[in-house]
Amino acid sequence: MKAVIGLGTNMGERAENLVQAIRAFELLPHTKIVKYSSVYESKPYGYAEQPNFLNMALILETSISPEALLGACLGIEAGFGRIRRFKNGPRILDLDILLMEGYTSDTELLRVPHPQILNRSFVLCPLYELFPSGVAFDFDFSEAYQRHPKNDIQPYRI
Ligand code: ADP
Ligand code: MG
Repeated sequence: MKAVIGLGTNMGERAENLVQAIRAFELLPHTKIVKYSSVYESKPYGYAEQPNFLNMALILETSISPEALLGACLGIEAGFGRIRRFKNGPRILDLDILLMEGYTSDTELLRVPHPQILNRSFVLCPLYELFPSGVAFDFDFSEAYQRHPKNDIQPYRI
């Protein structure tokens, strides 16, 4: 099945963190990266006194289970030495499962579609690049994309 992953980083060598995270996804069994968005720089959400983020999104084709994919995401984050200090605080790498084709989940461990997709420019912009119709699988984010605030995010060249 296809899965969309959102990546975010605002500590250390941010561009390098994205490159290394992509390498880690390439190493996952039964998984291929089928599409990359470009990279965006965004103002921090929730807690302003921290560096800007780099964000992007990937489409994966995978046959591992949603739970295994979540485990892989958390494992890759842990491999970067991520420590969760406080909510919406700085993070060396955040990997969120945004969507999975034909799959939904609403447990605390795994919510898919990710509940914050429609509220966050740094998710909507890369998602729109991957799905220019504004519909990803059967998830319609076109209206949210059209009205998202445009001033807190910009393209970033790496
Ligand atoms: P956030 O991404 O909201 O800033 P965290 O990355 O610290 O916060 O949250 C991680 C926790 O969220 C994980 O322990 C994971 O079980 C849970 N979670 C629930 N749904 C998802 C999802 N779709 N993708 C990634 N993590 C999720
Ligand atoms: Mg997360």
